[in-house]
Amino acid sequence: MRIAAHPEDETQRIASLKSIGLLDTPSDLYFDQLTAQAAHIFNTPICAVSIIDSKRQWFKSIYGLDVCETGRDEAFCSHVVHDHKLLEVRNALEHPDFHDNPLVIGAPNIRFYCGTPIHDTNGFCLGSFCVIDTKPRQFTEEQKELLNSFALQAEALIALHVRQKDNEEKNREIISSRDLLRRELARQSSLVSNAAAAVIRISHRGIIEDANKKAESLFGYSIDELVGQNISMLMPKDIAKHHDGYLKHYDRDKRQNATHNSSVIGEGREVSAISKSGELIPIHLAVSEVVIDDQSQNEFIGIVTDLRETKRKERELERQSMLLDKLHKGLTDYEALISGNSIWSFLQESLRELTNSEYALIGEVDPSKSEPELIVHSLTDLSWDKESKSLMQKFLAGSSRVTNTKSLLGRVFAQGEVVLTESPATAPGRRGLPDGHPPLHNLLGMPIKQGDKTLGMIAIANSESELNDELVNWLEPFVATCSLLIQLYRQMNERERFTAELEAAKDLIEDASRAKSEFLSSMSHELRTPLNSIIGFSELLQANRKTPLNEKQSKQVHQINSSGKHLLTLINDILDLAKIEAGKLSISLEPTLVDSVANETLEVLQPLADKSGISILVKANAQHIEAMADYTRLKQVLINLLSNAIKYNRQQGSVELSWEVVDQSVLVHVQDTGIGISDDQIDHIFEPFNRSNAENSGIEGTGVGLALTRKVVEYMNGTIDVKSDHTGSTFTVTLPLANCQVKSDSFTSGKVQNDQLNTDLTSQSEKVVLYVEDNPANQRLMQDIFEDFESINLVVAHEPFLGLEMAKTHRPDLIILDINMPGMDGFQLLKRLKQEPSLEGTPCIALSANAMPNDVKRGLNEGFDHYLTKPIDIPKFYDLIDDYFEEVN
Ligand code: ADP
Repeated sequence: MRIAAHPEDETQRIASLKSIGLLDTPSDLYFDQLTAQAAHIFNTPICAVSIIDSKRQWFKSIYGLDVCETGRDEAFCSHVVHDHKLLEVRNALEHPDFHDNPLVIGAPNIRFYCGTPIHDTNGFCLGSFCVIDTKPRQFTEEQKELLNSFALQAEALIALHVRQKDNEEKNREIISSRDLLRRELARQSSLVSNAAAAVIRISHRGIIEDANKKAESLFGYSIDELVGQNISMLMPKDIAKHHDGYLKHYDRDKRQNATHNSSVIGEGREVSAISKSGELIPIHLAVSEVVIDDQSQNEFIGIVTDLRETKRKERELERQSMLLDKLHKGLTDYEALISGNSIWSFLQESLRELTNSEYALIGEVDPSKSEPELIVHSLTDLSWDKESKSLMQKFLAGSSRVTNTKSLLGRVFAQGEVVLTESPATAPGRRGLPDGHPPLHNLLGMPIKQGDKTLGMIAIANSESELNDELVNWLEPFVATCSLLIQLYRQMNERERFTAELEAAKDLIEDASRAKSEFLSSMSHELRTPLNSIIGFSELLQANRKTPLNEKQSKQVHQINSSGKHLLTLINDILDLAKIEAGKLSISLEPTLVDSVANETLEVLQPLADKSGISILVKANAQHIEAMADYTRLKQVLINLLSNAIKYNRQQGSVELSWEVVDQSVLVHVQDTGIGISDDQIDHIFEPFNRSNAENSGIEGTGVGLALTRKVVEYMNGTIDVKSDHTGSTFTVTLPLANCQVKSDSFTSGKVQNDQLNTDLTSQSEKVVLYVEDNPANQRLMQDIFEDFESINLVVAHEPFLGLEMAKTHRPDLIILDINMPGMDGFQLLKRLKQEPSLEGTPCIALSANAMPNDVKRGLNEGFDHYLTKPIDIPKFYDLIDDYFEEVN
């Protein structure tokens, strides 16, 4: 079987076939009549109008067969479409192209076929008009002509189908555009009639032709009342009378030149309109000209927007910003805020202005009263006579309060009600205004609240504004600001009160601390005085050059002396501890050469070590290092640690003192070979009076040394640690490293020299020393001391006034004064002595139990040449006297 190729114009042909919409349409009577008629005339069992689609042969009409389509490949018509001419197959069985065609060898067993092309209205060949027989046949030329004329009829039917289809489409379009138009119209008219703006159509002469619903409601006229009237009926009189003239001008100008310009035409502008009731309404009016056609006169459409709400909002905004302006000004005026009074008067004035009122008031409920009472902070002066003026002033000075809780004001500040009345004089609860009181037309009172609590109130009277809820709402920010201010002032008062209490408490603490210091100082004095005698006498006994003690006595006196000194150490330590605890220890942190402190410490302790058979090893891992420390206090620390290391050591043991620098810190280690400290004791050794196991060891101690040591180290921003086992203990003091280094020789002895005195006095032979002291034990001690100086005569006065007199008569070479004496203290006596011309240049030494550094400082400042503390250090005292009278003995 030969398959017919596609014609050259296949693509366009198929497109055209699709566009006419013939394929798969229902059977058509006219086509069916045509095929039936042809079958009858040609006496063939089958006749068809066959259409060749891209893949199939579809029958628009087929007579004699009950099929509607076949494949394109076996279709005889495909050849007609390709060849584009009539095809006659006389005996298909014998035809080379068709003998094995399935339609030949199978049903409908085609033997004879004659088909001629049919075209669409675009001229494309769509298929064929064909007749088929199951027997071989042959057509005459006339028969072929007749077949062609049938094909033409089929083409005419196809053209009809196309036209019908086009018509239908057009109809559909018309219907849908009509619908659209109808909908559009409905939309337009609802747009106009339901528009939020009023729309009015007027003729070129200014006559109202139509108006929408909004125009009715805006101007108060019905549409009937409007239509036919001159638009000027809606204009204020002065504008209305010019309107007709304006329209004429507009018309003429427009005819003369096209550059007419009117402000309502086009974008429009704000103007006023007048309603039926005579209300002047602010509106926005935009007019557009409607050009209809050449014959008709133009019309105008006016779109009117009601601006009443906008204007109201604008006014509201203006008022709101006025209010905020006032509040802002009030809250940012620092001076007024701090003074309190002027802020209240400013706010009261602002309240009056903002509400266009004659009178205003701001008051606060007195928080200290159990019953509500109003303190008036500020009030417009409404006094009408002398008496009312003084009442007003009393109110403003806070000495008079509003206490009547039943009055209109009372309902506000006591009950927290908003009171709003147009007739305050006769309102319920009012007893009427006093004679002469200015008349009140209206009154608004609002409580100032914090949550449910009423803090105060504001009030206005004789306001030009309408007193209503709107005004109340509008004043809310004002009232809230007053509430904030009242709270602020209350907090400020509270803080002031608290600060005053704190000050008072601080004073109390300071008093207590002063009392404690004084107590400590006087205790120290009380204890040092007898100690002075004990230590002094014992030392005197030991040093007695005339009658030396025997061995036993010497031992006993030594015992007295060491016990005294022990007690003195204890007192000193306790005093130091107390001072640290009171934060009163005065230390001076400065770069301190550790080598120097260590050397001085060793000097002090070497004798003890030697006596105990303990060797001391010094290991400076870094030379000339400086710690930030107090020189004396660091020495005190090292003395404590080293003396412990010696005391708590084994026989023939050793102590190592070493120091090093680690990470910006100076570490000083004191290591011993002692018995160590047990684990359960180690945590307690820094507690005051805790002597751990040493309690019953017979080793002398007070149990205060380590506690003091730790406090002193911490006071110098350092730490102290201990490690201990049965081979010994190591105490490590860590102090901050000082930044700059100072040479060791910059530290010099603080010993005071008085060369002038030395030279002055050395030439004298018989010398007199006056000692003024009220304590007999001390007098005796001094007398014993001076027994050793043969060429010095000691005269003693047991009270200061006698001392003064004796000074004048004896003209002593040296005066020694006690400080704490009844009637006149050492300082006062010194002053009197200095005023005595005959005593000019006489050196004076203070000898006092007031041993605080401050006491010493004060003594030297007041003019003493030396300030010695009790208990007296006898050897040093001998040296000092020797210095004064070098060549006397
Ligand atoms: P004390 O006056 O008793 O020496 P401290 O406060 O100096 O008081 O010491 C407290 C206690 O710590 C001592 O009583 C002793 O038991 C123990 N202690 C202190 N240093 C050492 C040390 N180097 N070796 C062993 N024990 C020590």
